[in-house]
Amino acid sequence: MDQSQKWTARKIRQSFLDFFEARKHDIVPSAPIVLKGDPTLMFTNAGMNQFKDYFLGNDTPKNTRVTDTQKCLRVSGKHNDLEEVGHDTYHHTMFEMLGNWSFGDYFKTEAIEWAWTLLTEVYGLDKDRLYVTVFEGDKEDELEKDQDSFNNWKKFTAEDRILNGNKKDNFWEMGASGPCGPSSEIHIDLRNDDERAKVDARTLVNMDHPQVVEIWNLVFIEFNRKADGSLEKLPAKHVDTGMGFERLCMALQGKQSNYDTDVFTPLIAKIENLSGIAYGKDEQQTIAIRVIADHVRAVAFAIADGQLPSNTGAGYVIRRILRRAIRYGFSYLNMKEAFIYQLVEILAEQMGEFFPEIQSQKQLVEKVIHEEENSFLRTLEQGLSRLDQIIAETDGKMVEGAKVFELYDTFGFPPDLTGLILSEQGYSYNQKGYDTEMTSQKERARSAGKLDTGDWVTLKDDEKEEFIGYDYTSAQVSITRYRKVVAKKKELYQLVFSLTPFYPEGGGQVGDKGLLHNDNEKIEIIDTKKEHGVIIHIAEKLPENLDAKFQAEVNTELRTDASYNHSATHLLHQALREVLGTHVEQKGSLVAPNHLRFDFSHFSKVTDEEIQQIEDLVNNRVQKNFSLEEFRNIPINKAQEMGAMMLFGEKYGDTVRAIKFGESIELCGGIHVGATGEIGLFKITHEGAVAAGIRRIEALTGATARKYVNEHIETLNTIKQELKNVKDLIAGINSLKDENSKLKKQIEELIREKAKGEKDVWVNNAIQKDGYTLIIQKTALDGGAVKDLLFQIKNENENIAAVIGVDMGDKAQIAVAFSDELAKEKGWHAGNMVKELAREIKGGGGGQPFFATAGGKDPAGIDKALEKAKTLL
Ligand code: ATP
Ligand code: MG
Repeated sequence: MDQSQKWTARKIRQSFLDFFEARKHDIVPSAPIVLKGDPTLMFTNAGMNQFKDYFLGNDTPKNTRVTDTQKCLRVSGKHNDLEEVGHDTYHHTMFEMLGNWSFGDYFKTEAIEWAWTLLTEVYGLDKDRLYVTVFEGDKEDELEKDQDSFNNWKKFTAEDRILNGNKKDNFWEMGASGPCGPSSEIHIDLRNDDERAKVDARTLVNMDHPQVVEIWNLVFIEFNRKADGSLEKLPAKHVDTGMGFERLCMALQGKQSNYDTDVFTPLIAKIENLSGIAYGKDEQQTIAIRVIADHVRAVAFAIADGQLPSNTGAGYVIRRILRRAIRYGFSYLNMKEAFIYQLVEILAEQMGEFFPEIQSQKQLVEKVIHEEENSFLRTLEQGLSRLDQIIAETDGKMVEGAKVFELYDTFGFPPDLTGLILSEQGYSYNQKGYDTEMTSQKERARSAGKLDTGDWVTLKDDEKEEFIGYDYTSAQVSITRYRKVVAKKKELYQLVFSLTPFYPEGGGQVGDKGLLHNDNEKIEIIDTKKEHGVIIHIAEKLPENLDAKFQAEVNTELRTDASYNHSATHLLHQALREVLGTHVEQKGSLVAPNHLRFDFSHFSKVTDEEIQQIEDLVNNRVQKNFSLEEFRNIPINKAQEMGAMMLFGEKYGDTVRAIKFGESIELCGGIHVGATGEIGLFKITHEGAVAAGIRRIEALTGATARKYVNEHIETLNTIKQELKNVKDLIAGINSLKDENSKLKKQIEELIREKAKGEKDVWVNNAIQKDGYTLIIQKTALDGGAVKDLLFQIKNENENIAAVIGVDMGDKAQIAVAFSDELAKEKGWHAGNMVKELAREIKGGGGGQPFFATAGGKDPAGIDKALEKAKTLL
């Protein structure tokens, strides 16, 4: 039997989870690929991200053993594989990481034994093809060799298959700071027997050989790396393992490349079909097909998890990945029209069973990708024409680097593509000039957005900050730790309290503001946020006495206003689904004290009637005055039974809080009104598009909504007064419009008459000379009228030469017209002549042999120009 049929990707994934479930691990879902609430990371880049709080001791897990498959994306920050992807056969942007975890439970012995058993006994991998590495120790960090791991591996494999690894390969760190520890990797040799006999695999481990690859990394977390670079021991020891799912599939399906496994073959077949280009023939085309098959996964999953392509931050990263795919298709597969969106269907079929988000958001994902493709292809076209221009402007065969940078900067036109097109035409560009521009731009960006974070200073240990903000808006607190951060050159302090009534920004709702005070001092809290489960209060200065007790007092006015908007957002969400349909899903939300904003998936404009219906539904429920029913800490499945909606891209704990007003039930951690009547009035102020398939509604509540309505009424009243208090405003405005168009017609009539009079004057004053008629005149008519008159005269008379100077007060114009006989037979050229005359009025112009005009800024020169015309003619 073909190995790929025996070990389908599906079965490989399931067997992993089953194996660890049998060893008392809870199977948990993958966290979203797009991260929220972690300023150090945009995307999930390893299975451990979602468990960071457990390692840091900020939170305690329900079960100390879990297992999962995690969607990872390695395209930014410390782990960035983007440039490799497609060029090699085993790095992806988005990949699944299979993992098992111990949070202060088992350690090296079990982790190593289970990894070996799973690989060799369950999956049946050949022991002779496996090699492992252990950490050799590091002087700088004062760490010794990981002898424990070595001893454990010795139970299963020969000593000479256990290799030493350095800090780079065998000391795992998530980022510049955070939990870390020594790791032990498992590598597999997939080469054929010939090659294996020739070169010892040991010399190829960790040497970027495409068939000798790392498949599994077992990390033993016992340290925390601080911002100053030093290590501190964590209170407990943890296991964090990550196995590359696609690489495991390659090994088990007997393939030489991840792209030959059933994870990718359906996508590749579709690309071959759409482009008519076969995979595996031409090197460049094969790379292009791999890039596209890989990138569509990353982009589709990011969009499904709520990250739309955009111009900043995580959205920009996604946009760049998609553009990389489009460009490879454009340059190497000759795909000049959008096509990548058509792969989403295949992806949804393939992955939808395990990752339902990709199935249920299919339509949105397709739409967004399609739109992005179209717009980038347009950009590519514009860039190409600018590039033609640049080539035309270049002396020699070397294009300035700064111009290639300009293309990149203004059109997003990638330099490698520019280089490729240039080389096709025998040109190249100055790389150094390009690099210089790039470096200075990066420098500018860095100094603009720098966030410098100091280490925490702990004042009181063992106090766990409790959030009491649902029940209290004021409480006596002490400061347990603080740190200084520098953002955009401004120094701020982040404070953590023993307990807190302050609501941290989340679920769309802005963070509370307020005061921290006692008899001696008063500190303003300007914002509240949550980081890794810890509530952080932001202040512009530190209290003098950090050890004192303080009253922490929330600004209740702002918070109450925000609560109107938050509860109204729930009612709006409910109404949207009722009026537009259940395809409506929340895609973004802002709940501020003075307004609310709600983004949702929907594929056409929300009509005025629909807006009215939605607004009415919400206001009816406001009037019904539904009381708040709050369910704190209920199990998530109980909430689902009640009918609460789960959002994709949102990470929920085992227990949740549900908020119910009438029939509206949502999982929500926000602040709400006691009964919907408090909202007072709900008013939609704006509806529009934010991206393909995403609409936005903005609305007001309470006093702000009343003010908005009143201001509009006031405007109407003013208009009414201006219209002399007409009874029917609209009829009044219509009659004004009628009157206006009547007047316009009259003016046009008057001008025509005036022009006719002028024409008679011109013809009567004409000079006859050598068989032709010369008209030289100055006028105040406008340019259009002059042109009309000249053409009339030309049609009615033969052998006419006319030069008219137009005085427009602050500007001047000259028109020259010759009859066809003069222009054709005598070779007179109105365009050339007008150029000559334009100098006198300090301007320029041109045109055809029989008619031309010029504009200038000096009316005083008109007479001189006309004199000149006389002598010329
Ligand atoms: P490599 O050296 O091959 O880049 P790594 O050291 O970056 O791997 P880890 O951070 O230890 O890898 O991640 C754990 C596992 O995830 C690896 O053993 C590998 O199987 C897989 N993996 C890592 N990066 C990728 C990627 N870009 N695409 C696919 N799988 C990956
Ligand atoms: Mg790597």
